[in-house]
Amino acid sequence: MMIIVAVIQKLTGGSVAISLSLSKTRNFLARISHDSLHFLSKLSRSFFQICSENFTPGVQWLRPFEAWDVKMAASGGYRNGTHKGNMKVDRLVSLSSATKSSSLKSKPSPASPASSGLRRNSTGSVGGAKDDAGVPGRVRVAVRLRPRNAEELVADADFADCVELQPELKRLKLRKNNWDSDTYEFDEVLTEFASQKRVYEVVAKPVVESVLDGYNGTVMAYGQTGTGKTYTLGRLGEEDTAARGIMVRAMEDILAEISPETDSVSVSYLQLYMETIQDLLDPTNDNISIMEDPKTGDVSLPGATLVEIRDQRSFVELLRLGEAHRFAANTKLNTESSRSHAILMVHVKKSVKGRDSALLSENCNSSHMVKTFKPPVVRKGKLVVVDLAGSERIDKSGSEGHTLEEAKSINLSLSALGKCINALAENSAHVPVRDSKLTRLLRDSFGGTARTSLVVTIGPSPRHRGETSSTIMFGQRAMKVENMLKIKEEFDYKSLSRRLEIQLDKLIVEHERQQKAFEDEVERITVETQNHISETERNYADALEKERLKYQEDYMQSIKKLEEQWVMNQRKHGSERTTFGLKDDNFDKTLNGVVPVASAAEEIAELKKLLQNEASLRTATEEEVNNLKSQVVQWKRIEAAGNSEILKLRKMLEDEAHQKEKLEEEIAILQSQLFQLSFEADETSRQLDRGGSGKVLGNLDSFVSQIRHSQLSDSGNGDKASIAKLFEQVGLQKILSLLEAEDADVRIHAVKVVANLAAEETNQEKIVEAGGLSSLLMLLRSSEDETIQRVAAGAIANLAMNETNQELIMSQGGISLFSNENKNPTI
Ligand code: ADP
Ligand code: MG
Repeated sequence: MMIIVAVIQKLTGGSVAISLSLSKTRNFLARISHDSLHFLSKLSRSFFQICSENFTPGVQWLRPFEAWDVKMAASGGYRNGTHKGNMKVDRLVSLSSATKSSSLKSKPSPASPASSGLRRNSTGSVGGAKDDAGVPGRVRVAVRLRPRNAEELVADADFADCVELQPELKRLKLRKNNWDSDTYEFDEVLTEFASQKRVYEVVAKPVVESVLDGYNGTVMAYGQTGTGKTYTLGRLGEEDTAARGIMVRAMEDILAEISPETDSVSVSYLQLYMETIQDLLDPTNDNISIMEDPKTGDVSLPGATLVEIRDQRSFVELLRLGEAHRFAANTKLNTESSRSHAILMVHVKKSVKGRDSALLSENCNSSHMVKTFKPPVVRKGKLVVVDLAGSERIDKSGSEGHTLEEAKSINLSLSALGKCINALAENSAHVPVRDSKLTRLLRDSFGGTARTSLVVTIGPSPRHRGETSSTIMFGQRAMKVENMLKIKEEFDYKSLSRRLEIQLDKLIVEHERQQKAFEDEVERITVETQNHISETERNYADALEKERLKYQEDYMQSIKKLEEQWVMNQRKHGSERTTFGLKDDNFDKTLNGVVPVASAAEEIAELKKLLQNEASLRTATEEEVNNLKSQVVQWKRIEAAGNSEILKLRKMLEDEAHQKEKLEEEIAILQSQLFQLSFEADETSRQLDRGGSGKVLGNLDSFVSQIRHSQLSDSGNGDKASIAKLFEQVGLQKILSLLEAEDADVRIHAVKVVANLAAEETNQEKIVEAGGLSSLLMLLRSSEDETIQRVAAGAIANLAMNETNQELIMSQGGISLFSNENKNPTI
């Protein structure tokens, strides 16, 4: 190609740009097609590697924590349930609260053990895995004093407050009498002048930050009615923003930290009264039951209304609505809100940024992009804000219009909470968590995995010294409760597969575009070259013809000249002879003998010379003609070379098309495996939900687990190796026979294994030969199980990649099965 263009340029004076653009285009096209193929195959390999390495659905307890935690605990690195020092580079997740300053200062409580080493509560830990130690985090307790109210200003005018606060020492003195007092230390002591903002920052903000990092968190207020629990937690602050309480401020911080495209916040608001949970967002829903996940210990309320929060205004509206329903419910039940517990649950789902950004970067080197790609991670933190019922003892005489039994029930949850906290504080073997709904709901908050902050509210009046004292003692005991904070995060396989699909589609589009551009370029070059060749040929034929005509004309003119000269000579000669003859015979004789002979000889010599010239001219012309002829021959040869170059290009084009076909096959396999994987993900999470994973399935189970094991341990061609191994060990017949097993679980596993095998081209023929196709069709026809139908259909779809199998499927009535609307519509 380069030669043709160079010759054309030389001969026709064509532009140099042609040759440059041609070679550049060829190199560029070759490079991009190579790059895109290389990248696609790498992407597919890496995707399956990642999936096989990481596919463990459900909550992922953070394993790298463990060794690190032990090291930190041993070196006394923990502070306030978080840690200091640098993170290990390979840690998946950082505890961001470690770098944020926590206002609840690290100060061992007087009664708590001196060091908060790794102590695990015997009953309280709710982690799913047995070996997943969390980060130790003691329950933090702040005490808040309410200013004297109007009534107290009058009634207690002559008396001193029953407490004296020393906030700088974080101490509180409870007066016994005029001379003596008991001193207590807290994590924070908030005077009657403490602003709502400061209370939020020291009590709740560290908990909110932990929730945003994927931990569970609890903020709870405990105290006598009228001491400011609702003021601290629930003030909406619409008339005065400075008065906003913890709930409103917490939501402001959460909404500021999440991104609406990837993250979500949803809220439930409940009331617990006389061991009944009522939905404050839907008053008709007044008997909500508590569900506990036996594996993880996670507590949930599936019946509660869950409202997604998009902005602060709608959240405040929701709180107001909840408060109105609470008021209405309490009126109906003839009680006051001070006797019920209000519980706000905020579920925060936040995706971890930066882990998969490489995939989205357009300019990124493709191989690097694939290497650094990891599935996205979602963190699910839950913030529970609890406004407890008043801690004062209910009047057992029934002054509130309740019988003794009702009174017991009203107080049941609160006294059960006290008992649990005592048991945890004393590290006793039994914690009576199941005694009440409140303790079941707060199972993760005390002795569990949540970061918990408690604010105990007290009033200044000496008349309520007894209640104030019991509130302080509750706070002191709560300070001894040690939690083990654990992060809740999962791999987001759905979004991973969504992104991979988008990426694949982009690459396919790009590839097709490049291929079209390549074909157009080849077409253009071919046309251009042919035009150049025919134009040059035309030019040369014209030039040759002109040259020939010119020489012919010259030749004819020369002949004509000679003839004229000859005629002239003849004429001259004759007249001379006549003149001399008339004058004198002697003279005539003389002349006749000498002069005419001499002049004729001269003329002949001249003519000869002319003839010689003509002859040499003719030879030169003939040479020139020969020369031109040889040039034409050369041209023809060059043209032939050009044609062979075009043929080469065509061949390259065919190769490209072939590669594209291969690529499409690879994509089809990729998509079917993707389908398989997402199906398995669903299936596994469904099994996890059912909690039935422990069932023993005999032989099949063991070889299914062999597959999984080999997928996890082998980073390269794990799938193929393990399946090949299974072929040898178990035998295809055995696997296929299990398709007809009695046990539905066995059938599901067997059909999954067959589907896995069918994804490999090499196995497809063996499966069909061994009667696998018939078994699969039979299964598809006979089975009622949706899972079996889906997986069997997937396996048949894999087998249908082979053309002969397609005929077999059709002959065995497969098409009618697939077209049946009652069967899986995804096929
Ligand atoms: P509780 O919920 O504990 O029964 P409330 O929050 O309803 O108590 O408070 C009772 C009263 O005291 C309310 O009128 C409230 O405005 C007022 N109050 C409580 N704490 C404070 C405080 N820190 N500063 C000013 N007023 C307060
Ligand atoms: Mg209240």
